[in-house]
Amino acid sequence: MGKPETTTSLSPLAARTSGASFTLHGAGVSGGIAIGYAHLISTARLEVAHYEVPRAEVEAEVDRFDAAVEQVRGELMGLHAAVPADAPAELGAFLDLHLMILNDAMLSVAPRELVRTRRWNAEWALVHQMELLVGRFEEIEDAYLRERKADVQQVVERVLKAMLGTGHQPEPPEHEEDIVVVAHDFSPADMILFKQHQFAGFVTDLGGVTSHTAIVARSLNLPAIVGLHHARQMIRENELLVVDGSAGVLLVNPDRQVLAEYQLRRRQLELERQKLKRLKTTPSATLEGVPVELQANIELPEDVEQALEAGAMGVGLFRTEFLFLNRDDLPGEEEQFEAYRQVVQAMEGRTVTIRTLDLGADKTLNGEQFAGPNPALGLRAIRFCLAEPQMFLVQLRAILRASHYGSVRILVPMIAHAHEIDQVLHYVAIARDTLAQAGVPFDPRTQVGGMIEIPAAALAVASFMKRLDFLSIGTNDLIQYTLAIDRTDDTVAHLYDPLHPAVLHLVAHTIRAATKSGMPVAVCGEMAGEVALTRLLLGLGLRQFSMHPAQLLAVKQQVLRSSVPEVEVLAQRILRSEDPERSRALLAKLNA
Ligand code: PEP
Ligand code: MG
Repeated sequence: MGKPETTTSLSPLAARTSGASFTLHGAGVSGGIAIGYAHLISTARLEVAHYEVPRAEVEAEVDRFDAAVEQVRGELMGLHAAVPADAPAELGAFLDLHLMILNDAMLSVAPRELVRTRRWNAEWALVHQMELLVGRFEEIEDAYLRERKADVQQVVERVLKAMLGTGHQPEPPEHEEDIVVVAHDFSPADMILFKQHQFAGFVTDLGGVTSHTAIVARSLNLPAIVGLHHARQMIRENELLVVDGSAGVLLVNPDRQVLAEYQLRRRQLELERQKLKRLKTTPSATLEGVPVELQANIELPEDVEQALEAGAMGVGLFRTEFLFLNRDDLPGEEEQFEAYRQVVQAMEGRTVTIRTLDLGADKTLNGEQFAGPNPALGLRAIRFCLAEPQMFLVQLRAILRASHYGSVRILVPMIAHAHEIDQVLHYVAIARDTLAQAGVPFDPRTQVGGMIEIPAAALAVASFMKRLDFLSIGTNDLIQYTLAIDRTDDTVAHLYDPLHPAVLHLVAHTIRAATKSGMPVAVCGEMAGEVALTRLLLGLGLRQFSMHPAQLLAVKQQVLRSSVPEVEVLAQRILRSEDPERSRALLAKLNA
């Protein structure tokens, strides 16, 4: 989804800038510059306004809050009184619990103080307190008690509803393209809902650069920053923001001169983007003519349009789990088949690599609150599919059916054991037999490949290659698991390092092993779309890159300017380097 340039001129933007200027630093996840007004939201589902209450209206705001709490107390007591005598005991107990939650000082008293001391509007003060309380629940070991956080949220939603329409919220900006969304955190499922909007950009307090939330943000092609820590607390509704998504810098209430500089920079970037479009049909090859295949990563079937616009030679990674988010049921075979066929037909014979479900960790189905004690190391991706064979078979049949309409490959995420591949191949064989017996057409030559994204898989790649047709290196998880840093956790985001010698060795080893035995190998993690790493990967022998379409033409430009013999020498030196500073210096030289 391309972001339209905001047409707002400098003067009205500057005229609305009233608060103090300050700057926040985070991790830029998506390049470009966005200029717009802050719109603070709690999650994509629970939207709550955040604004400053005028001093003279503070006590009226406290009264408004008290009245809403009183109204909800009355509602709950009324419901309690209406419970029939023969109703199950849980019903009364449930209402008692909600009354107890409502009467908790954290929800019924503390928000009043926040209204008085910080002049927050009552809704915001209440949601702030709710998040503190929910955070405490999340730390509880006992699963039953932990799930009571849902009750807290329900009570708060009741109070918010009671306050609906009684506040004096400032008018939100008229046009979505003038809005920069500010949030504490988003799940990948929340993020995917943004595909329906045209916001200028967004920023969050939490999140790492390779979290799935950030990956979807990149796919929206919007300037975005994660890991800003306290942005949502510090920024007020409607304040003017400049998001520098490349530098990870957020300017709040910039002065006129700074604003003008960023407006100029934004225009320059737009011109550069337009210029890159000229490369769309240029064959992707190095200076000496070595072909380099550039493919697209997509999350939803509609993303294929962007892939085609960028001149992608295929889809190197279709993250099918996004079809399973934000809904209460599972997509059936027919629905999945239609989604896959749509992509396959749109790609007109170019290869479409469909990854089997990678659910778990930060991507959970609706209603699945508890993903195990350590979700990234738990029943995720292929482990989950092998534990749910009926669901897996539905997907395999849908993919195989789509293979009849073009060129399809099946990609299996998160393999760690050879026996997992054997099981997958067994289920693929069952899916084929079922279709063949029913006379449903599919391509019997459909290839099965594996993602190398666990260090064990990279190290044992030789035994995996015997069982597979192709490999794709998922550097996001490979880095997460090699360096033991949760990719969604901004507190360890500074330790994320694609140049770490261990990471480079695993990547280089996998490319070398596959190339030696003539097996196709790609990188489909975020490293593939990093222009600063294109030459390094070329030098390590990579000839297939799969990335978000928005990065594709910039990577192509870099490929066109590179010479294999030259980049090989420096890439090998970086691979041998044991000192991170030296590696960075060598990389700078490689990109000079
Ligand atoms: C990866 O891990 O690098 C990858 C491409 O898969 P995902 O980001 O969806 O986990
Ligand atoms: Mg992965």
